[in-house]
Amino acid sequence: MENLCKNYVIAIDGEAGTGKSTLAKNIAKKYNIVYMDTGAMYRCVTLDMINNNVALDEIEKITELLDNIKLEVSSENGEDKFYLNGEDVTKKIREKQVNDLVSQVSHIQIVRDRMVDLQRKLAQGKKIVMEGRDIGTNVFPDAQVKIYLTATAQERAKRRYNQNQEKGIDIPYEEIYKNVVFRDNNDKSSSVAPLKKADDAYELDTTNYSLEEVEEIVMNKVKEKIQIDV
Ligand code: C5P
Repeated sequence: MENLCKNYVIAIDGEAGTGKSTLAKNIAKKYNIVYMDTGAMYRCVTLDMINNNVALDEIEKITELLDNIKLEVSSENGEDKFYLNGEDVTKKIREKQVNDLVSQVSHIQIVRDRMVDLQRKLAQGKKIVMEGRDIGTNVFPDAQVKIYLTATAQERAKRRYNQNQEKGIDIPYEEIYKNVVFRDNNDKSSSVAPLKKADDAYELDTTNYSLEEVEEIVMNKVKEKIQIDV
């Protein structure tokens, strides 16, 4: 059945490990719309810099990388696969070296500008659920639905740990906890598109809710805002 709303953006922002990805993917599946993981895009740029030994302050070299970067996503057996310049980097972009650097890379102005441009371009003319840190505040301030998820740092680290284990990525809990706290502080204090709730976003603390409960609450919010017939 066709969606009654022509094009729309559902923006899902929040701290690391709040369940944004799972929620966004499930919404996309349910409404048969496009899902975009903007964090993965910043992770790919970070990996590109690591692969080419480019430091955070080498703006000219970063610009050159961005001029030539090829980012692709494909859905294979229900799983998103990310390709950086032709290489499957789905696993690599979740590893420690990227985790440790991605927040700083994502706050380099030229990186932010290029990724935001790309995100807007890719979303053009589509019904889309987009997950990130600045979607409702910066990328699509006019998004029809804005959700902002939070949870305690302990709970978020636990979720990330379990998620990694399922994907075969072995990072100790303590390390994940430290990284989650570091990235949140860095994301919130950045002068470039800091992580914050949009004034008109619906905020939900997911600490004590199951994924199913979060999904139900958010789906109801979505239905309040846009008329979707599925
Ligand atoms: O969502 P994920 O944890 O994979 O994002 C990795 C990092 O990318 C975040 O910690 C944040 O620094 C950055 N990011 C961002 N803006 C977005 C999405 C992610 O700055 N829209």
